[in-house]
Amino acid sequence: MTNRVRADELSKKGNPMNEASGLKASGVSKVFSTPTGELLALDNVSIDIPRGQFVSIIGPSGCGKSTLLRMFADLEHPSSGELLVNGMPTGEARTKRQYAMVFQAPTLLPWKNVLKNVALPLKIMGTDSATRLETAREMLKLVGLEGFENQLPWQLSGGMQQRVSIARALTVRPPALLMDEPFGALDEITRDRMNLELVSLRRFDSQTVLFITHSISEAVFLSDRVLVMSARPGKVIADITIDLPEDRTADTRQDPKFFEYVSDIRGYLVDAYNTTAR
Ligand code: ADP
Ligand code: MG
Repeated sequence: MTNRVRADELSKKGNPMNEASGLKASGVSKVFSTPTGELLALDNVSIDIPRGQFVSIIGPSGCGKSTLLRMFADLEHPSSGELLVNGMPTGEARTKRQYAMVFQAPTLLPWKNVLKNVALPLKIMGTDSATRLETAREMLKLVGLEGFENQLPWQLSGGMQQRVSIARALTVRPPALLMDEPFGALDEITRDRMNLELVSLRRFDSQTVLFITHSISEAVFLSDRVLVMSARPGKVIADITIDLPEDRTADTRQDPKFFEYVSDIRGYLVDAYNTTAR
């Protein structure tokens, strides 16, 4: 049994929720001014992620993946084009807590224990102490960290610290998650475990997810769709629907179709790197 409702099932049922996109970028370009002149980081990028869909972006370093994510998070602004989160401009989406962000480095406050770190977004929102600590406990349970509430971040492994960051992002029950290489610093086995955990977390709340990664197999394993970006200036050069069983398990990684997708995406990625040489 899964609570996760796929966007395509919603549309089959004619659910009006599906009319709005979860994350949408229309004709987005980004130019940075640098001491050596203007730098076109993203060139006319359009992506449309229906609510509840999990989309990964993969592409060469410096192609503008983080910039795109940061624009959805209202931390950067496009030079042209428009970005919407659940139909709202990014500034409004931020104040209405429509999304949470998870970075590669855990970014926890070293002097606060795990429970207080997780409760922090609710504290900032003005939630009372009892409610926020109870919610933080629940979220820590969800990410398998029950019993670690009173530890300080440095007492945990890298994987556990990243789970704390994810628990913290989930406390506000955001409809969308923006994840920038969240498991990039972990060893492969820990990463595989975290991938399984992320899948089970989404059975609980089927957030719209935009997930950046350098790992092809991670992208295929987690996603409903994988977008491949070209080298800078970043453009979407491939949009691959991952038609694997919805409930991903460790066995998914043994599915022949899984290997086909990995190999296809590797091919697109080689093309993406080659755009630099041209
Ligand atoms: P990615 O996440 O795909 O590795 P980024 O989005 O971090 O790429 O960066 C895209 C390009 O824009 C890079 O060339 C980077 O150096 C440049 N860039 C990113 N942020 C800034 C900034 N604030 N000022 C100037 N250049 C930037
Ligand atoms: Mg980046």
